[in-house]
Amino acid sequence: MTTTRFAPSPTGYLHVGNLRTALMNFLIARKAGGTFILRIDDTDPERSQEAYVDAIREDLEWLGLTWDRIERQSRRLDRYAAAADRLREMGRFYECFETPEELELKRRKQLNRGRPPVYDRSALALSDEDRARLRAERGPGHWRFKLDHERIEWDDRILGPQSIDAASVSDPVLIRGDGQVLYTLASVVDDTEMGVTDVVRGADHVTNTATQIQIIEALGGTVPTFAHHSLLTGAQGESLSKRLGTLSLRDLRARGVAPMALLSLMARLGSSDPVVLREDMQSLIEGFDITRFGAAPTKFDEADLFPLTARYLQTLPFEAVRERIAALGVPDELAERFWEVTRENITTLDDLEGWWHLFRDGAEPAIDPADAEFVAEALALLPEGPHDAGTWGEWTAAVKERTGRKGKALFMPLRKALTGQSHGPDMAQVLPLLQRIRALEKNA
Ligand code: GLU
Repeated sequence: MTTTRFAPSPTGYLHVGNLRTALMNFLIARKAGGTFILRIDDTDPERSQEAYVDAIREDLEWLGLTWDRIERQSRRLDRYAAAADRLREMGRFYECFETPEELELKRRKQLNRGRPPVYDRSALALSDEDRARLRAERGPGHWRFKLDHERIEWDDRILGPQSIDAASVSDPVLIRGDGQVLYTLASVVDDTEMGVTDVVRGADHVTNTATQIQIIEALGGTVPTFAHHSLLTGAQGESLSKRLGTLSLRDLRARGVAPMALLSLMARLGSSDPVVLREDMQSLIEGFDITRFGAAPTKFDEADLFPLTARYLQTLPFEAVRERIAALGVPDELAERFWEVTRENITTLDDLEGWWHLFRDGAEPAIDPADAEFVAEALALLPEGPHDAGTWGEWTAAVKERTGRKGKALFMPLRKALTGQSHGPDMAQVLPLLQRIRALEKNA
């Protein structure tokens, strides 16, 4: 049974980079009819905040990325302690006492000699007495997992076959001097005990994966399949790291991006398949294939989200926006008509407000001095009677005959005089709507 997880740390708001991870794991689980776990990676009590846990849930709910189970790492500390004990018993876990400064000095020396900065394992040479003395002097040490110095291999579903020489990697610290369990261990214990079968995460985790594979094997777990997606860059290939704050999911939501537009883009960006607008979750799930993604950095341009949002909104039936339109104060009897008239002329639902104000309050007419006489003449010809879908055509035909104007020179000044805008919905539809709004206002 396929089981995946999304394991965010509640130390900030989710951004588009996190979404890539969440979405891929979600889609793999849903496509296989498996389980998707939301696992809050909150073993760091100093940096984790409850408000971010709530925000993570809210953002995923907004997108419709539902989880089957939620887990909190902070509630599983006893499981991690038990795993640490087992590693100790196996002789795969050793206590180290170097300070961060001492480690840094070692690193620099190695780099100066042109060697990779790998931990030299000097703590392995400590005697029991040395350890007792260091513990008394410096307090409890931090604990490293002793890697087997062999090649670690896996067939990455995105990067292809991987082979990392364990000797080129430092023995990972799994427990800090203050007793805090680190992600590298917590994640492995959880993946094993929760039966996680597929792990998708960012390419910044490749080295972690190598060490985690050995830890899983030491603990007798089954190694899941791994896929590491490339990191997102800006549209010009620039690093996004500084901008990710403004690319938070809540930010995009506030800017009116539609969930299906965002999901459609992220489910394909960086793959060899084209981005297609998906109108519902089911078709998004069916059209997803993790093996189509490439290792190259993936360019993300938030500007792409707006045309997709516009196209998505055009597919929505009135029912889907009824409440939103009512909230603008559009009278019930006009609401559906208002949606039909404006739906193709909005980028986000926020734009509805502008159209409503324009229609209700009447625009400041935009009339070029050169057109003033023409517009006055035309308005005098506008029929009084109830306007319908044919009125605009009949009226402009009459104006054309009287003035000899045609094409853009005929239509544009009239549109601008009536709506104050040089673009917008089909005037044949706008005209009757305007008249109905005026009539309601008069009777109000
Ligand atoms: N909390 C880790 C992160 O956000 C989880 C990584 C993983 O998926 O294992 O990077």
